[in-house]
Amino acid sequence: MLKILFTSFILFLISTQEASAQRKVAKQKNTSAPIFDSVKWRQDNFIVNRDSAYKNPYYALQKLAAGNKRFEQVMSIHPRQDPALIKLLSDGQYPFATIVGCSDSRVSGEILFDQGFGDLFVARTAGQVMAEASYATIEYAYLSLGTKLVVVLGHSTCGAVSAAIKRPEDPSGHIVTLINAIKPAVTQVEKMPGNKLENTVRQNVINQVNELRQLESVLSRGYDKGDLLIVGAVYNLASGKVEFLKETLENLPKTHYAMNDITGK
Ligand SMILES: [Zn+2]
Repeated sequence: MLKILFTSFILFLISTQEASAQRKVAKQKNTSAPIFDSVKWRQDNFIVNRDSAYKNPYYALQKLAAGNKRFEQVMSIHPRQDPALIKLLSDGQYPFATIVGCSDSRVSGEILFDQGFGDLFVARTAGQVMAEASYATIEYAYLSLGTKLVVVLGHSTCGAVSAAIKRPEDPSGHIVTLINAIKPAVTQVEKMPGNKLENTVRQNVINQVNELRQLESVLSRGYDKGDLLIVGAVYNLASGKVEFLKETLENLPKTHYAMNDITGK
């Protein structure tokens, strides 16, 4: 706890110093610089307090949504990437969200959620298909790092999902593992109207969210008691927008976390 407080204090100092340096430069140049720590700047740039996001998974969700809004609107601020912070983080990490995403080179969590070092704990495989090691990775983040939000992140035109739909006769190497894991989603959306690939992408995410929510015993326990939030989302490669799937945001277990103040202040 002391470590967290100390880290927060240092981060506060760094952000205050940044803002004051900005103002100093502006004064010298006789221009008006953006005030990085002002309430207005925070609102305009969809800033959600990081400490609150770490403590409360609902704020964490807001923080990711806000970061993606910046990215989508080409307003990314690329937070927490300065050498001083990177050095500070060598002492420990407190990521506020675990992202279970696809390995696709176009779906990098830190970039599309506009977050920085130490913010996201990430597990990536093609089609975000999970097995023992991925489960352990997600459990580790929850139990040891205190990360209380898990986002399963699929994306449009996913190659692994596409392969599961096509079901090649004799897939090479271990690729059949991915196909078999995604196959149930293909069958579930068979009669659904609309784009088959996109429907399967969404269904696959929903299935994976349910898989984690029911995974004995660490994740299922955390989820059932409302301490761990597990949701699904789909990233659109063309628009840059992440859509959090409403099917995974409804009927959540009762929680002790405050959900009303989404600014996290
Ligand atoms: Zn993919």
